[in-house]
Amino acid sequence: MIESKNFTFDKIIPFTLKNSKIRGRFVKLDNSISKILNRHNYVLPIALSLSEILSVSCCIGSLLKFNGNFIIQGSSKEILKTVLADYSSNGSIRAYASYDSKNFENKTLLGFDELMPKGHFAFTAIENKSNKRYQGIIPVQKGNFINSVYYYFKNSEQVNSEIVSFSNNYGKKFISAAILIQKTPSEILGESDDFNLFEEAKLFLNSLTKIELLSSDVSMEDILYKLFNSLDVRVQKEITVKDKCRCSASRVKNTLKQISEDELSKMTLPDGSIDIICEFCKKTTKLTKEYLVSIRN
Ligand SMILES: [Zn+2]
Repeated sequence: MIESKNFTFDKIIPFTLKNSKIRGRFVKLDNSISKILNRHNYVLPIALSLSEILSVSCCIGSLLKFNGNFIIQGSSKEILKTVLADYSSNGSIRAYASYDSKNFENKTLLGFDELMPKGHFAFTAIENKSNKRYQGIIPVQKGNFINSVYYYFKNSEQVNSEIVSFSNNYGKKFISAAILIQKTPSEILGESDDFNLFEEAKLFLNSLTKIELLSSDVSMEDILYKLFNSLDVRVQKEITVKDKCRCSASRVKNTLKQISEDELSKMTLPDGSIDIICEFCKKTTKLTKEYLVSIRN
């Protein structure tokens, strides 16, 4: 009998194939997304969708060449109103969703086009230093989220990419993983050789089953070595992923400085104080009447 190793994950492994002709990212999240999803207690189809979006945001976000954030935000006026996954280049992730729960009776297997009719996804990279934003907005595509990701790659990034992603849960324990490969510009090999190489890598990637990708008994490195064995796979330094929010007292202060007196009065409790609850981490910050007066004058 093979002994169960039960690896823990929550990391992103950057890798290359064939002398960097192809670059890739392998992300696998377990404790981090379980903590995030159990804090919110979303219905299962939303929790699994959010897991997948988070994994994809880690894959694309970890390709950024600067320190910053990569955010995937879906918006629509219908069932799933907002879904947001935020990856920071230090490995912190956070996420939330808002939806009409009454719409989820008997609707567990809806595609994103049905969950978010006429909705859109915004893929945004924000550079910390300059606060510069790079954004691609696309209409929500039919079927699963990966179809929207392909639409984004085709229209915004224009890089030949292939991605597989799966999520699952065992009661309160969630697991989600994604592998992304992208063709990089090459000078040594001719275009046709490169084309065949990428097609071969795509075939290998698509042979991976959901059970293999989400297995807790195999290390991420072993999956990569097995999958791309003939393509000289090289793994680079991993990035640890953690459930960590970016909310802060100074951000709350700045927001409260800017909102109108009318909006502020709607939020104010009978004793003149305000409770600010972070949508992501659910942390409550209590601000006294005296403090509110001091920051708004
Ligand atoms: Zn927070």
